Amino acid sequence: MINKIIKKALNEENLEKNEVLDLFKSSSLEDGIKLFEAASEIRNSNKKMIKLTSTVHLTNVCKITPKCMYCGFAAKTSSEGYYNSFSKTEDEIISAIRSIEESGIPRVSCSGAHGFDGKHAVQAAKLVKENTNLELLINVGSDLNMDALQKLAEYQTDTVCCNLETINKNLFNQLKPGEMLKNRLMVCKMVNDLNIELSSGLLIGIGESYLDRVNHLFFLKEFSTLGEVPIMGFNPYLDTPMEDHPPCSLIEQMKTIAIARLLFPHLRITVPAPTIGPENVKFSLMAGADNVATVIPDNYPLNVKGVGSPRYGNMNEVVNTIEELGLIPQIKETICPVKEVGITEI
Ligand code: SF4
Repeated sequence: MINKIIKKALNEENLEKNEVLDLFKSSSLEDGIKLFEAASEIRNSNKKMIKLTSTVHLTNVCKITPKCMYCGFAAKTSSEGYYNSFSKTEDEIISAIRSIEESGIPRVSCSGAHGFDGKHAVQAAKLVKENTNLELLINVGSDLNMDALQKLAEYQTDTVCCNLETINKNLFNQLKPGEMLKNRLMVCKMVNDLNIELSSGLLIGIGESYLDRVNHLFFLKEFSTLGEVPIMGFNPYLDTPMEDHPPCSLIEQMKTIAIARLLFPHLRITVPAPTIGPENVKFSLMAGADNVATVIPDNYPLNVKGVGSPRYGNMNEVVNTIEELGLIPQIKETICPVKEVGITEI
């Protein structure tokens, strides 16, 4: 049954919701392999290299109360996380972004916790764009207003990320009792209205149904500036209310990545190394992802704990993984000119 659906996707025909639901429901190994091969073929046919995105965490001081049930990033939420409060100084941010640029990683995500009306985000955008040529993604969730977004646009921020996590309202309220889904939706809409590229993703393995995922993916299609869809598998962070909730399985993450690729053939499908696990990055690439996030170079000057799990991707290991699959990592030309060529088949 999925052969017909996959054929449609390979021809870049629009898939119906019920067809996408059938893809999620298919459980045989044979169907899984077909799905992953189709997703890789679609990614590779766009001749894209695999993007690497590094990260700077601006602050873990979060004014959301109560904290999100899964959060191990905000201060005092998890002994595995940063735990102690921090707000990075200008000098710390500059040294981190320079180390990222020197490594050849082309893109940085500057992210932080909630409660500053975008102040940290705007400062980070200014520092990144005045001191480097890095592509910039800003992610401070819904902690943005129109004024801050306009400033981000003035600083030529390439992408603003506001993850909805789930559009199942009951589940959202249960997992994020201190936040409102409508505030995140409003930020996505403002980003879209300002014609800034939007990144917005799904947190999976948190009790959502396949239909929730399908509805969420189709909902994202409504944003005309959507350029990136992160797929984040849940991992329990120690000491949080969800520490005993099972982690999202690798196969569910691969399936969701592949289906996102079928639905969004030309968009960046992002997998953060902490959520899939650094050792599993290869499986995200086999499922059609084309951006690995939270990739940290050896010369990085700051302590890093991943969002979603304390781990992160080491740049050398991620690059090796990409190359072992016959794919091409996007490394800045000045560092490694030979990398700036086309993509090969897996
Ligand atoms: S997930 Fe984000 S908004 Fe929620 S408590 Fe953690 S830092 Fe705050």
